[in-house]
Formats: sequence, C-alpha cells, structure tokens
Amino acid sequence: MGILGKSNTLYEPIHHSGVLSWPGIGRFLRWRHGRLAGQLLLLLVVLLILYDGFTGPQIASENTATNIVWLQFRGFVMLALLFAGNLFCMNCPFALPRSLARRWSIIGPRWPRFLRNKWLAFGVLFIYLYLYEWLDLWASPWLTAWIVVFYFLLAFSLEFIFSESPFCKYVCPLGSFNYIGSTVSPLQVSVASQNVCRECVGKECVNGEWKESGKWQMLGCGTELFPPQLSSNLDCTFCLDCARACPYDNVSLASRPILHELRQPKAWPYRWDLSLLIWLFTSAALSNAFGMTPPIYATVAWLGQIVRVDSEALALLLIFAFLNIFLPLVVGLAVSWTSRTMAKKKEPLRVSLSKHTPALVPIGFAVWLAHYGFHFATGALSIIPALQNFFIDHGILLFGRAPFWTLSNIVPFSWLLPLQVLIIVLGFAGSYFVLAEIGRHEGEPLSAQLPWLILLLGLAVIALYLFTLPMEMRGTGFMH
Ligand code: SF4
Ligand code: SF4
Repeated sequence: MGILGKSNTLYEPIHHSGVLSWPGIGRFLRWRHGRLAGQLLLLLVVLLILYDGFTGPQIASENTATNIVWLQFRGFVMLALLFAGNLFCMNCPFALPRSLARRWSIIGPRWPRFLRNKWLAFGVLFIYLYLYEWLDLWASPWLTAWIVVFYFLLAFSLEFIFSESPFCKYVCPLGSFNYIGSTVSPLQVSVASQNVCRECVGKECVNGEWKESGKWQMLGCGTELFPPQLSSNLDCTFCLDCARACPYDNVSLASRPILHELRQPKAWPYRWDLSLLIWLFTSAALSNAFGMTPPIYATVAWLGQIVRVDSEALALLLIFAFLNIFLPLVVGLAVSWTSRTMAKKKEPLRVSLSKHTPALVPIGFAVWLAHYGFHFATGALSIIPALQNFFIDHGILLFGRAPFWTLSNIVPFSWLLPLQVLIIVLGFAGSYFVLAEIGRHEGEPLSAQLPWLILLLGLAVIALYLFTLPMEMRGTGFMH
C-alpha cells in the first residue's frame, strides 16, 4: 500500500526525496488534509483582519489589519520565497473554494482560451500596485479589509465557476508576484523517478482521482502543471495536491542549485506576456520604492504643471504607466535589439528579449526584499501592541492596560542601509551570474551581453540611490 493508503500495482512505494521525506513536516505536507489545515489557520488570521479592519482603530500602527497585511505578511513572504518557496500560495485561504470543490464535486467549464496567458495578470498587478500608492492602502485598516473582501469574492467566484484554478494562474496579483519571486527559491516540485511516470496510466498528479461515487478522491494540479515535466516554479502554488494524488508517491519537493531555473535555457516559454510580466515585477520594485520617497510628491506636482493635470490620481497613474509600462517596453526592446545586432543573430526580438529576461529576476527580487525588508525590520514587533490594543478593547487584559507602543523594530536602525546595500549588491551579482550563464548557453560574444550588463548595473545604481533617500515609515508604531 502507498502512503495514502491506495494500492500500488506497478511498484512498491519508493522513498521520497527532499522535504517530503523529512519526518514530521514531510508527513504533514503529504497528509490529505495538510493544505486545508494551513488554509484554515490563515483563514483565522483573515477573519481577525476583517473584524479589526472594519471595527478597530483607524490608525495603521494600532490596527492588526494594516500591521499583518502590510508589514508582517510581506516580510514573511519575501523570506519564505528566498529560503523555501511559495509558502503563501501553499496556504492561501483565498484558494479554499478549490479544496471545498472536492466535497461539492463541481466541474465547471474551462477558462476561456483567449485569456490563457499572463496579460490579465499583468493588468491586474499593475492596477493593484497603482491602487496601493494612490489610495495609501497601507494607511487604512478599513480599505485593507475591503481589499480582502474583494479578493475573497473574486477568488471564490472564479474557482467556483471554472474547473481549474484560473484565479491563481491568470488573475491573482499576489500569485503573479509569488510565482516570479519563487523562481529564486531553493525548492521545486519534481518527481523521484521519471520511469515510474512513464509507466503511470492515470497521471493522477494532474488529472486527479475520482471516487466511484463520482466525487473527487484527490484533486490533481489546479494550475494544470505536470510534475515530471516541471522545469520552473512559475505557476506552481506549492499546494502539493500532485503529491497527494500520485498513487506511487513519486512526487518530491527537492532542493536545486542556486538560481537554477533562471540559468536553464528554455525553462520558460518565450512569450511577450510572460516576459513583460517579469519586466513589470522588476520596474515596479523600483517605482514602488520611489513611491515612498520625497521626490514622488515633487514629480506629481511637476507633472500637474506640465500637462495641466489637476487630479493627483491621474498624475500618479501617468507616472506609474510611464515607469512600469512605457519605459520597460522601450528599454527592453532597445536592449534586445542592440544585443541581437551585436550577436549577429536573426532571431525574433521576442526570443532575444525572453531569453535574457530571467537575468532581471535576482535584481528585481533584491529590490523588493530590500524594500519590504525595510518595513519588516522597522515594524515587525508593532503587531504586539496592536494585538494588545485589540484585546484591551474587547475587555481582555494581557500584560496590563497599556499596549507596549514603543515595540517596533527588530534590528538597529543604523543597520538598515548597510543591509539594503548588501542585498542590492547580492541581487546584482545574482543577475550578472544568470546573464553570464545565458550567454554561455547561447554562445554569445561579450559585446552581445554588454547592453544587458549596463541595464542591470543601471537598475542596481537606481536602487541604491532610492534607498539612500528618506523613506516613509509605513504603518509602524515607530513614531510613538
Ligand atoms: S507524478 Fe504523475 S505521472 Fe508520475 S507517477 Fe505520479 S501520478 Fe503518475
Ligand atoms: S505542481 Fe501543481 S499540484 Fe503540484 S504543488 Fe505545484 S501547483 Fe500544486
């Protein structure tokens, strides 16, 4: 019998490799209700966010909603992506409808073919980042709670209507961010034996398994990935439904060499939509950091005078569209064209761009890490007084009547800039490493790599400049 209690007629159960073979945690992850348990735990956190967001104090540093969503969550996500993988999507409470669908046995239509790409994800991620800046979401517990409600409604509707997981794969901006971020992660879903997969008839890892009663026994991969052919963490939610569904216990969650998939030729398809989503991820890392420095206000005012735009919302939209759509497109095409000309290749510009785009990920990830890490380092402990405040408001006294408002940072403030500089330098080194490997695979001359190297250097210098500017302390109790 296999570990899930199903008979295995082809092979004796094989040993798992990687995390799934670890005692305790491996067993928990393979447990058929493992994901549901993690989702229910996060659902409790979400209920706290909703309750306190709607009814609690409307001051960011004093409310658990703004603290959890904009400080702790983003800090933990970045650290999880860097050291493990896509742990948020693994336990995402917004994907609960899919877990419940097994009970309801719902099989809806497939997601429309013309939307089976990353254009929608590109648009939604752009809008999400823009709304964050325009509405100062980090400062409003009430708006933060509404964002969570909106997320639930959208995720629930799409997962309920369609047979696969279109919300996770084609829409969710957090998912898009996590998929790209997880390409630097040290773990990846794969299989222990390709031979077992070759002889497997049901391919339950992707097809799922039905009970005789017509209900799902185990779900297959919601984002329709096939573990034996996986070369990337893109679109993988780390849900491990594939591991639970495989009758031969053949799926593993294994470690891989540093920046492995970014260095592999053709690990990603050469598509405009995917490549431009990666460019958005990278440019938004800079524009998002820019949005919390003083020059953003001067730029909005300057734009208002130049193009006579009175509305701050419109001025900000123009700035964000310029920085995240127009500029990346023009720079990306120019760099690709120059590199292709130097290499004397006749390939389409799309191929040249897509081939080198993985080199942007380490520096883009580093900028996000330095940015979110800054907020996390300066405000991680402010959740403690916010929780104390919540309990005091509800008549429960923990450690006395006064919250410890001075709790906030977890590292000395004098360490912040050196740490940010170190992260950016490491990110640049990672990007340079990936670029050099791509060049080696492609047999490119140094002159063809030069335009990309200048671009990476430019991104690193801009990032270093931004982090030397004074930054807003968003949502922390630091000012108390
Ligand atoms: S991973 Fe998929 S294809 Fe391979 S043995 Fe398991 S169910 Fe079959
Ligand atoms: S391959 Fe699919 S089923 Fe397996 S962990 Fe990734 S998203 Fe989940």
